[in-house]
Amino acid sequence: MGELINGFTGFARKEALGAFQYARDADRPRGSGTASFDPDKLRLIPSTDRRWAWTEIDLNAIRHNASEVKRRIGRGCRLMAVVKADAYGHGAVRCAKTALNSGAEYLGVATVQEAIELREGLVNAPILVLSEPPMEAIPLLLGYKVMPSVYSPEFAIQYAEAADSFGLRAPYHLAVNTGMNRIGVRHDEVVAFMQQVSFHRALDLVGTFTHFATADCAETLDFQIQVKRFYEALSALQAAGIDPGIVHAANSAAAIRYPDVHFGMVRLGIALYGFHPCQQTRTMIDLRPAMSVHARITDARLVPMSEGVSYGMNYRSPGSVKICTVPIGYADGLRRGLSGCTDFIVEGQRFRQVGNICMDQCMFEVDLRTYGARRKVDPQVGDEVIVVGRQGDSVVTIDDMANALGTIQHEVAIGFGCSRMARVYV
Ligand SMILES: *Cc1c(COP(=O)(O)O)cnc(C)c1O
Repeated sequence: MGELINGFTGFARKEALGAFQYARDADRPRGSGTASFDPDKLRLIPSTDRRWAWTEIDLNAIRHNASEVKRRIGRGCRLMAVVKADAYGHGAVRCAKTALNSGAEYLGVATVQEAIELREGLVNAPILVLSEPPMEAIPLLLGYKVMPSVYSPEFAIQYAEAADSFGLRAPYHLAVNTGMNRIGVRHDEVVAFMQQVSFHRALDLVGTFTHFATADCAETLDFQIQVKRFYEALSALQAAGIDPGIVHAANSAAAIRYPDVHFGMVRLGIALYGFHPCQQTRTMIDLRPAMSVHARITDARLVPMSEGVSYGMNYRSPGSVKICTVPIGYADGLRRGLSGCTDFIVEGQRFRQVGNICMDQCMFEVDLRTYGARRKVDPQVGDEVIVVGRQGDSVVTIDDMANALGTIQHEVAIGFGCSRMARVYV
């Protein structure tokens, strides 16, 4: 019995049916069971067996990328590993420790909470929050020894007074707006700003930085204007007798493309995780993507010609295809906009994702006909599927997905990495 349910005789389907019947066979009323499960034993069931979709992070790739950049920037220049947004979805604590062991000396985050999570993960390196937090968070900065970026006098004074009241220093980096117009003191107002706050003895200017809006663009004029303004701001500080501390400006694109703006430190984000910030860097540096996305087939069925698949039934079976289901959907970062626009890899061969990607699952199509030299693949329930990564000669990248979606790799990587999928370090 059950052999021909849905036209496909999967062995796992029979297993599942058996287990179900066993549970029902026990002839006692439901809910009166006395079985108790040992939570410690339950915990031993690995995350990749709880759900057949997970991400893998190759820490050797992170080591490689950090060392490649470190080698290019030379001895006199520090490397900041930017590990905001849970290290772009790769896991902040593990990536921070790995980068720190591969030449990084500084860490950059976006929020105070991200900094606290690093400290709680026993990370001791200097941490800079890359924008100015709310004043209410100042005790956390002092308590966890985390530096803020500063660009408003009110924050500077409040921070200094709080530090002073604990008998502490108030270290910070000054953010300079040279043209991105996001945060920072205007490039031609840095001296006035410093004079406004410098009466406070607890304040410690540890670094001065700016951020480029177009370091990853082919056109370089706007970039050059920002560089010029930054140099002017630095000279003005020096002329006023103010030591700017560690000077930094370069994100990944600038660190790779423009040695002139390495200054005392570069801030490495996307390239640390193995993504090229733009086309130009592809020939300049060897980067290895650290993230891959994996799943296992949970269902495989023959779908008769012209029957639809998934919501909306935009896809219709052409016949002689097996439709395989994997438990990964847009709630896991596999964006719905990729429906029909990405391939999955099984046994080193690519197969087209078909039908709309659902919240928790999606399907792909396997042509069962043999023709030419093509090796026939007949995937089964439980077989591994590469959603992002390389297998044999086949490769599907986050770059491909970002291009198909009209976005950048940061967003796609964070979508997978900050989802409910388990993360495995390899
Ligand atoms: C995110 C961020 C970076 C890292 O940028 P990438 O392009 O990912 O290397 C550097 N600096 C600042 C201020 C940032 O916000």
